[in-house]
Amino acid sequence: MLSFACGHCGHLVFFENTVCLNCSTPLGFVPDRLELVALEGPAATELARCANQDLAACNWMVQREGELCRSCALTRTRPGDADAAGLAALATAEGAKRRVVMQLLDLGLPGVTPGRLAFDLLASEQEPVATGHADGVITIDLAESDDARREQRRAELGEPYRTMLGHLRHELGHYFQPLIIDGDEDWAQARELFGDDRRDYERALERHYAEGAPEDWAERYVSAYATMHPWEDWAETFAHYLHIRDTLQTAAEYGVSVRGPRAVNLDRSLKATPQPEAGDRSFDEVLDNWLPLTYALNAVNRSMGSDDLYPFTLAEPVIEKLRFVHHHVQAAAPVAAAAGR
Ligand SMILES: [Zn+2]
Ligand SMILES: [Zn+2]
Ligand SMILES: [Zn+2]
Repeated sequence: MLSFACGHCGHLVFFENTVCLNCSTPLGFVPDRLELVALEGPAATELARCANQDLAACNWMVQREGELCRSCALTRTRPGDADAAGLAALATAEGAKRRVVMQLLDLGLPGVTPGRLAFDLLASEQEPVATGHADGVITIDLAESDDARREQRRAELGEPYRTMLGHLRHELGHYFQPLIIDGDEDWAQARELFGDDRRDYERALERHYAEGAPEDWAERYVSAYATMHPWEDWAETFAHYLHIRDTLQTAAEYGVSVRGPRAVNLDRSLKATPQPEAGDRSFDEVLDNWLPLTYALNAVNRSMGSDDLYPFTLAEPVIEKLRFVHHHVQAAAPVAAAAGR
């Protein structure tokens, strides 16, 4: 995530803010500029708040009163007006969605437009909901907005990490796979790395839930769920790549760097200086900054009695898959790369 300052007083403000907590100037996010703008002077009259300002707790701006912003416009179905609990969960999920839509715009990925990509955000209290992706429509179970329920499912499934942001990034992985892998040669390479995606999905699903992941999954996969089918391996890897890019960008924006732990013989592999324009770098450089940062952040979390911020290890085959995703995200985003973002 980028960092933001109030356009009126220069105080630190955050992506989610609707007002500066220092000087009370109203703020709104302008997606076309990727800026949190102080709504005073011309900006106050030329821009309007998203029509879902209240419903989705949305702080994004639009051109004309009554329009939906670039994130809210992607939501095709939501809980009905009478479903108060569903609407509260919707606001939480839309917050995570704005964060990932912002990242997609920042990366310059194509296809983040209504008509091509849509979200059905549904409450499973009302009807059975299967989180998933089909033909550009991403379905999300809003029960996953509830911390207690999500944590219960995380524990039941033995997952080290489960968040709404993670669900959105995973399902977007399915959406982007055919958009950013292009041509027979690329697909052949993808199948070499992730396995043959033409394998029967229903059978793979049944096998996964009957037998679980192979014991040695961590030697080849980023998560146990990734072992289920090559599609899921791609989606898990793509989501993981977005985690890395966002977290590195945030560290760079705040000037976080790691000189390495004091107690050990230092070598280069324990130092990190995250760079804001990570996309222009080779994946090796991204990784050289990522790993030392995660060692430090995990140690910091443990000092607070919290679980590791980054509860993953990256085996060499996983790194090769991430490198493939990096290459294809960069290739699909010429505009962002050219702008040096
Ligand atoms: Zn201010
Ligand atoms: Zn909105
Ligand atoms: Zn999936």
